[in-house]
Order: sequence, then C-alpha cells, then structure tokens
Amino acid sequence: MTKAIGYAAQHSYSRLKPIVFERDDPTDSEVEIEVMFCGVCHSDIHQVKNEWSNTVYPCMPGHEVVGRVARVGGSVSKHAVGDLVGVGCMIDSCRVCEPCHAHEENYCEGPNSWLATYNGPMIPAKMAPGGINMYGRDNSYGGYSSSIVVSEDFVLKIPASLKPEVAAPILCAGVTTYSPMMHWGVKAGDKVGIVGFGGLGDMAAKIAKAMGAEVTLFTRTAEKLEEAKKLGVTAVLESDKKTMTSLANSFDFMLSTVPEKHDVNPFVKMLKRDSTLAIVGAIEPLPSENNQERVMHRKSVAGSLIGSIAETQAVLDFCAEHGIGPDIQVIPIQEINQAYARVIKGDARFRYVIDMATLKLDEEAA
Ligand SMILES: [Zn+2]
Ligand SMILES: [Zn+2]
Repeated sequence: MTKAIGYAAQHSYSRLKPIVFERDDPTDSEVEIEVMFCGVCHSDIHQVKNEWSNTVYPCMPGHEVVGRVARVGGSVSKHAVGDLVGVGCMIDSCRVCEPCHAHEENYCEGPNSWLATYNGPMIPAKMAPGGINMYGRDNSYGGYSSSIVVSEDFVLKIPASLKPEVAAPILCAGVTTYSPMMHWGVKAGDKVGIVGFGGLGDMAAKIAKAMGAEVTLFTRTAEKLEEAKKLGVTAVLESDKKTMTSLANSFDFMLSTVPEKHDVNPFVKMLKRDSTLAIVGAIEPLPSENNQERVMHRKSVAGSLIGSIAETQAVLDFCAEHGIGPDIQVIPIQEINQAYARVIKGDARFRYVIDMATLKLDEEAA
C-alpha cells in the first residue's frame, strides 16, 4: 500500500475535500501513475451529486487523467517508468464477453460491466447476477488524486506533441465525440451538426472539422456564436426558428452533446434520409420523439457511450496529428468546488483541468 491524497465528496450534498487514503501497490500487470493533470467532466458533477442514483461514497472523481509512470509490475511491457500516459473512463473490463473480444470494452456485457476509473463497476455487485463482484471492489478512486494504479492494458500513451494538460480532456470529451463519428462513418465533405457547445461540443466541432466535415453548431447561448466563428464553423441559435426550419433533411450526421434532458425532435428533422442522430450527452429519459419523422425518411436516433481503449488511443493520435485539442483553463485543486458551480451554470465552453501539483499544499497541511 502507498499513501495517497485526493479530493472526495462524502455525501451528495457535500463539497469536495482532501482525504488521505491508501492505493494498492501495482500487481504484476499494473502501472502506478503519478497524476499531473485531471480534467473536470460534467459526469464528475452528476456522480458527486448522486444524480444517477448509483454513487458510492466517498466519491473521488476524475477520469481524464494524465501523468507519469512511477512504478510498473513485473510483467508490464507496454509502459515504462517515466512515460507520459493517460487514463480515461475505464480501468478494466471482463475481457471475455463478445464486446470485450471485439475491443469494445466500453460496451462490456460481463456481470459487472466495465470497471469505471471512479465509482467502481458500472454494474455494482448488488445489481449483478448472483451478487457477483468480479473486480473485488465496490468503489474506485479516480484521478483527483496524487496517484492511480491501473492495468497496463487500460493505460494510453500521450503523444509527445500534445501538452499533458491539453491531452487530459481528450480522454473522455474527445473520445466520446470521436467514437460515434467513426462508428457512423463521418467523412470529408459530410454535413455534420453538433448540438450543444460546452466541453463536448467544442471537441466534437474540432474533430469533425479535422475530418474534413462541414460543421454546424447549435447553441442556446448567443454569446457562443462568436466563439464558434473563431473555430471556423457555422453556428445557429436554437431560437432562430427560420434557420432551424430551413435546415430540414440536410445533415449526414448529427451529434447531441447536451448533458441533460432536451428535445431532439427539431434535430431529427434536420437529418437526411438514412442518417443518424447520436446522443452522447444525456443519460436519462428524453421527451419522446416524433416517430413519423423517422419512418418517413428512414432516420435513426441512437446513443453512444464514451469509446473503446483502441479508440481512445486513436483520438489522442488524431488530435496530435491535426494539432487540435480542447480549450482549457488550468485550476488548482483547491478551486474545484467553485469550478463545479461554474460548470453547472453552463457558461464554460472551455474545459477545466486540475493541476495536481497543487495537491502538495493539502499534503503539507495534512
Ligand atoms: Zn467524462
Ligand atoms: Zn466484457
């Protein structure tokens, strides 16, 4: 065991505060990483506040983790001490189900599904068949911490040309938008619509543009129209009904990144025949869709969850190759609660990234 320090919430209504805890030593096939930066994802806030009714406390979020390998187990061959590496949303999966065999661990159908970087298995033992607990734990502590220990197969390589703090949000926001675009075959010349212009929308627009697509962003916030212009993409205000109507049947693919309940019907109307709207932001029931619109033009409304380990490596390499990355603001960990409040208000287009070196201040106080 190694002493570690991190920020965790004790209840759904508590603020994040430093706690000292023990990390397991790496096993033969695991890597210990000294965390340098960790992105702040909207999911972190949902989880801390128990908005999906599955939070295990203490809850130590963080699944956009970048750091240096500090120790490796005896059989580790993919990573070496000193390597700059990343950890995204998953730290393990069952490895034997059909999706795992197909390298789509993010859709693991094992009894506990995949092991999340924080908050434990996606299907906790109490909900799994026969109460099985294949990972031997109910909780996991994420990247808002000094160190993390992860199976080498779930550790990503950070390309040399990406700054570590810029790479961090690519591990969740980046792959969550890249994976559906790859799955539904977005290609150069396609018309792609992105709904919502927060952390995910920002990454989605940049990735789609780098793929050669013609990108239109949909936002409810007038101030974000200028921001979209800076990215070199078209932006439409959702309240602009005339423009919204004029876009009927015109998009090859649409991606909804809105992290809460919202009406997708206006966007289904904009899909071309045979095209898909993929929802990645909201993981809750949405207002019902007008099925007539789908039937009349053979349209699809789909969902997509993060991305596989292979896709996570691919999007890191893609961003490095195209010189793109999220707009970020680096904060000390001591400002995490204020950052949450600003994300909840919904006016941050950039991604907050925590500089984990600032944990030292709490370590000294502990
Ligand atoms: Zn996330
Ligand atoms: Zn599996």
